[in-house]
Amino acid sequence: PLPVVAIVGRPNVGKSTLVNRILGRRAAVVQDVPGVTRDRISYEALWNGKRFTVMDTGGWDPKAVGMGASITRQAQLAMETADVIVLVVDSQVGATDTDLAAARILRRSDRPVILVANKVDDERSEGNVHELWSLGMGEPQPVSALHGRSSGDLLDLILDAM
Ligand code: GDP
Ligand code: MG
Repeated sequence: PLPVVAIVGRPNVGKSTLVNRILGRRAAVVQDVPGVTRDRISYEALWNGKRFTVMDTGGWDPKAVGMGASITRQAQLAMETADVIVLVVDSQVGATDTDLAAARILRRSDRPVILVANKVDDERSEGNVHELWSLGMGEPQPVSALHGRSSGDLLDLILDAM
């Protein structure tokens, strides 16, 4: 089986946009992971000749009650299944309580966790990134999933962490 990269984070931070960015034009097959809830959709991706599975954990989870429970479950699912976890936050919004809750859980992971500061669309927005150190997840990696800014650097980091 291919290494699994899980993309987690609260709604609207740009997880699905990042997944599409990772898949790029060479994108692969969409597959529902059999036997699990639909809150996980996996795709096959390719970067630098290495194949891996990228898991978008974004769906609404009917078993979870409220955002806090939903993010908790998402993070736990990621820790159970993923080889590398990518926690996405919205750098334009900053660290929210929900981001903190996710970070608190993921900090206990024995798998590598990469903190992504998304929506850094231009150099001006780099200033928003520093405060995300407060999540205690190490260095925030600035990207723009929408425009592709620094997404190659992020993919290099993900592969290095596998
Ligand atoms: P998800 O709920 O985490 O999967 O978030 P989506 O991928 O659906 O994106 C939520 C919204 O954020 C959409 O309107 C996206 O176009 C927008 N978005 C995602 N990535 C970026 C980015 O890098 N920059 C900006 N400015 N907007 C983004
Ligand atoms: Mg989504």
